[in-house]
Amino acid sequence: MRRVLVFLCVGSFWCAGLVLCRRVSGDDIADRARKLHFSSIVLDTHDDTTQRFFSKDYDLGKRNPYGHVDIPRMREGGMNAIFFSIWIDGRTMGPPAVEKALDQIDAVHENVRKYSQDLVLCRTADEVREAHRQGKVAALMGVEGGHMIGNDIRVLRMFGDLGVRYMTLSHFYNDEWADSSTDKPVHNGLTDFGKDIVREMNRQGIMVDISHVSDKTFYDALEVSKAPLIASHSSCRALCTTRGICPTT
Ligand SMILES: [Zn+2]
Repeated sequence: MRRVLVFLCVGSFWCAGLVLCRRVSGDDIADRARKLHFSSIVLDTHDDTTQRFFSKDYDLGKRNPYGHVDIPRMREGGMNAIFFSIWIDGRTMGPPAVEKALDQIDAVHENVRKYSQDLVLCRTADEVREAHRQGKVAALMGVEGGHMIGNDIRVLRMFGDLGVRYMTLSHFYNDEWADSSTDKPVHNGLTDFGKDIVREMNRQGIMVDISHVSDKTFYDALEVSKAPLIASHSSCRALCTTRGICPTT
């Protein structure tokens, strides 16, 4: 996602540059794009590093020989805010799903505490801006898949209290109340309980993420939600229509 943001940023600047000044050199454009990038708050809306927190070979605070994300590379790349993804396989349901999600939320909290010189946990846009003013990277959390609330709205509330700020309504598989884009539909979109989940997310300020959901789930969420939806990591259908491949992992 970070690369997509950078690409969009550079691409937009490049196109504008072509229109406004056809004789600008490549070096000038790269320099201006770099300035734009490093003068902006750059946010990675979906980062799959959280699972690495459980590996003894990985240290968020050091440059790692594998993967893409650690604090040194966040700093060098000018990434100012990051949504750590809370993810487990969508075939794990019920209490085990809740427990594993809580493990990951706790691991994010602990890493933020461990590296508090560089990171600060944020829950609002104002807090992200304040982190940027302090020269810190804003750490946020998004739950990737409604199966992790264990079909229990109280768990959603608990996630919200712990700082989760978006949730995809499904992952690769249907959950108990929402159909996925990569599974055979069984709910015709959102169930009534699924619509209550969307309303509760609105109430708590947890963004409704439609990455991974079926078309009908998307339209149901759009109808119910009072707040704008987000697509934290999705492809554009006009560019790619292949289900299960282009809708990202
Ligand atoms: Zn995904």
